[in-house]
Amino acid sequence: PVTLTIETKDCYSNMLRSPETRGQLVPSELINPATGPIFIEGAEPGDTLKVTIKKIDIEDFGVVSCGDDCGPLAPFIKGNHLEIVGIKEDFAEFLGKYKVPLHKMIGVIGVAPVGDAKRTSYPGRHGGNMDTNMITEGTVLYLPVAVEGALFAVGDVHAVMGDGEVGGSGLEIPANITLTLEVIKGKCYEFPIAEDDSDFCVIATEPTLDKATESCMAASLDFLKDKIDIESQQIIMLMSLAGNLQVSQVVDPEMTVRFTFPKKFMDKKEF
Ligand code: CA
Ligand code: ZN
Repeated sequence: PVTLTIETKDCYSNMLRSPETRGQLVPSELINPATGPIFIEGAEPGDTLKVTIKKIDIEDFGVVSCGDDCGPLAPFIKGNHLEIVGIKEDFAEFLGKYKVPLHKMIGVIGVAPVGDAKRTSYPGRHGGNMDTNMITEGTVLYLPVAVEGALFAVGDVHAVMGDGEVGGSGLEIPANITLTLEVIKGKCYEFPIAEDDSDFCVIATEPTLDKATESCMAASLDFLKDKIDIESQQIIMLMSLAGNLQVSQVVDPEMTVRFTFPKKFMDKKEF
């Protein structure tokens, strides 16, 4: 395993941070930049890239925005708007009076996809713009490797973001991310999987929320069959009782959901 500290720009390539470029339209090719790609020796299709997120250090202010071109609230917005939001010890201070507790998380993290290149605005089986709240300090992310060397990249850190990212942005902020990369040979699942102290979580992306839900549940059952020694239909009942289907984001080109399931109910607790 190798440990790296990676510098990331915010999702507007830091353009809205500086007063000189704040009023300008950010060109689409500068949206959601990711730092990379990083070639990992020995990583091949069929392997898994294990990413342990050790630390996310953020700047002292971020940008939140909304616009009439993005997400379910777009019909209620005219033009583009942004607010600069300061970071105090453990909260973000919106409009100087709303203290929102920080939840630092990574919006874009992934490997190169199968086939044609995908823009970093896209989430998918390769990871990418998953905007998933579980991808935070202390989390381990397992990414299915699709090409030789994996080609890992990361960016789009949020100081905080609610599930769904409903208005189209989190609290977008530059960061230094310290993480460890390691290849797990000869084993991979269909979608990215995250792990924290208490849960495993399958993260699925499809063009619609309905399809993302179907894919997420099928992949979760597939994963849990390897981990729990009871009949398939019993696993499904346990998934009903103890698992949580959650919406990660509804504002990117495709939709992302996740299913979290407690490790304490798994006979095999390792990926
Ligand atoms: Ca994002
Ligand atoms: Zn973002």
